[in-house]
Amino acid sequence: MKKDDCIFCKIANGEIPSRTLYEDEKFRVILDLGPVTRGHALLLPKDHASDLFELPEEIVSAVLTVAKKVAANMKEKLHFEGMNLVQNNGAAAGQTVGHFHLHMIPRYEKDGKNINWVPGNPTQEELDAVKNQIVG
Ligand code: AMP
Ligand code: ZN
Repeated sequence: MKKDDCIFCKIANGEIPSRTLYEDEKFRVILDLGPVTRGHALLLPKDHASDLFELPEEIVSAVLTVAKKVAANMKEKLHFEGMNLVQNNGAAAGQTVGHFHLHMIPRYEKDGKNINWVPGNPTQEELDAVKNQIVG
């Protein structure tokens, strides 16, 4: 299902042109217009789901299969040394477009980019408390 006012629905379904790297019945992979690095791409499901929490199971399991296939082709052509897969859910997590998308970010030696987090330093008790809150 498409959502009328969703720009990524329009892009994924070809109503708005994009620099498409891959397309099949369920997905389109496009170049990000504001790339962190050369080749930064976005994997978009064609059916609307705002985020991971809304994504149907069969699409969830297909996302990484498609990402792996496209990533392999990108690596062969662009010759990068690494890749970050990033996927933001909700404004608190930095999501700015409310249609599920997986960032595929090529990483080059000495590209000078930093999209990693600073590790925290919790106590053992704090870690236990979180674990217990989630799984008892
Ligand atoms: P996020 O912050 O995870 O929601 O990421 C949204 C991404 O979509 C950003 O990296 C933007 O550069 C990218 N973006 C926004 N609009 C477009 C567009 N029309 N075509 C391609 N990429 C876009
Ligand atoms: Zn959408």
